[in-house]
Amino acid sequence: SSRGVLTAIEAARNTDVPLNATSLLAAHLSAGESVPAVNPATGEAFGTVSNASAEDVEQALSAARSWSAPVETRAAVLNRAADLYEANTGAFFNLLAREAGKTLSDAVGEVREAVDFLRYYADQAAKHSENPKGVFTCISPWNFPLAIFSGQIAAALATGNGVLAKPAEQTPLIAALAVKLLHEAGVPRDALQLVLGKGSVVGAALTSDARVSGVAFTGSTQTALNIRKAMAGGMAPDAPLIAETGGLNAMIIDSTALPEQAARDVCASAFQSAGQRCSALRCLYVQEDIADDFIAMLQGVMDEYLLGNPWELTTDIGPVIDKAAKATIDQHVETARKEGRLIKQLDAPETGHFVGPALIRVSGIKDLQREIFGPVLHVATFRAEDLDKVISDINETGYGLTFGLHSRITKRVKDVSQAIHAGNIYVNRNQIGAVVGSQPFGGEGLSGTGPKAGGPNYLPRFKNRAAPGTY
Ligand code: NAD
Repeated sequence: SSRGVLTAIEAARNTDVPLNATSLLAAHLSAGESVPAVNPATGEAFGTVSNASAEDVEQALSAARSWSAPVETRAAVLNRAADLYEANTGAFFNLLAREAGKTLSDAVGEVREAVDFLRYYADQAAKHSENPKGVFTCISPWNFPLAIFSGQIAAALATGNGVLAKPAEQTPLIAALAVKLLHEAGVPRDALQLVLGKGSVVGAALTSDARVSGVAFTGSTQTALNIRKAMAGGMAPDAPLIAETGGLNAMIIDSTALPEQAARDVCASAFQSAGQRCSALRCLYVQEDIADDFIAMLQGVMDEYLLGNPWELTTDIGPVIDKAAKATIDQHVETARKEGRLIKQLDAPETGHFVGPALIRVSGIKDLQREIFGPVLHVATFRAEDLDKVISDINETGYGLTFGLHSRITKRVKDVSQAIHAGNIYVNRNQIGAVVGSQPFGGEGLSGTGPKAGGPNYLPRFKNRAAPGTY
């Protein structure tokens, strides 16, 4: 209920989290290189973290074990961890805002999803109790630093594997708190080890070692390709890589769409979470006859957004993750401005890593060479007779994560949904979101190997050494 959420938010503001990560991590790592934890909303350091040294990585690899407890025990422990996550909601809100720049409404959704993953995989575990089991390296991104991190780990543990967990460089404290709670719930320390550090160093070491029997990865497409290469050099040839990667997600608005609802859905899909969702809308196609009015309406919706400190209940859009991300997105918008294609950009706070949501004109999705991971929406127009060409252009990007359609023509909804290659298709609604257990999430082609996370086919890949998929 909203009242429960508000109480939890108040608790979050008052929660004392040990910000010097050494106290959280003392049990996990000896001191390697010390790096600051940075608040993206201010650009300031608020804690410190010790990355794993080469010896730490070796020690973790040699200590790693599968989890041999009976399946009932594993399920009970994961359910207990879900309870502990809920009891620590305030601490998670606090860290999600400070370390990942998450608004409180995004943080609420993220804790909920993490808890759902733990309970769902605990529930599914009984169906997957037989061998083989080994050790999985789980590598996660910063944009869902609790939900994706916990989901991968829970899946591997539920199937009796041990886990070496390597979170993103930007979000180690959230990961450390999650691992601390999983250990408290009863996951043995050698069956779940947190290994912090750079992807190119620590991540690479953990994905090229023969002691690891599989990798669960979520992050960019390029990193997945690097990991596939590293695995081929070190692991068994049939070691599974479960990869969930980037997208160039499109939405089509035809002239029968309900304009006000569609405009709100478009803006939420493109700008919520500062566009830092793999599912976010990147390229909008609006039917030519309604385009001028619709683009004006989008600008009206954008004007309602408040950018600012993620801690404030009134904030709609927080910062992007770090200085490097801001520089990349700013440069993309600047190029569009110079070329006369920038339709609108909101002002952003000057301190911290903020980027104002931007609307950029393009001729079609082929103008987007890569995923820009921020609050930038590209808009193209199309004529009704060119709809098939629009669909083939979207499919030809090779990605296939999310797709959205606003139309009230039933036959068109059916035909377009069948023709588009995408893991998740959203009709007459916004294009973001998944529900563990009932609306699993995952992409095709360059967007991922499948199977979908939070669905019934996900756990078997953690015990099955055959490796279908594109990577
Ligand atoms: P990233 O690929 O830069 O990093 C992801 C993780 O991989 C990090 O932990 C990083 O340290 C590690 N890593 C980097 N190089 C490595 C290497 N050579 N070997 C092993 N590990 C390595 O991605 P990011 O910037 O953290 O996250 C954003 C990306 O993730 C976007 O492309 C987004 O679309 C994608 N994403 C996809 C999904 C999905 O479900 N499909 C969900 C969330 C994010």
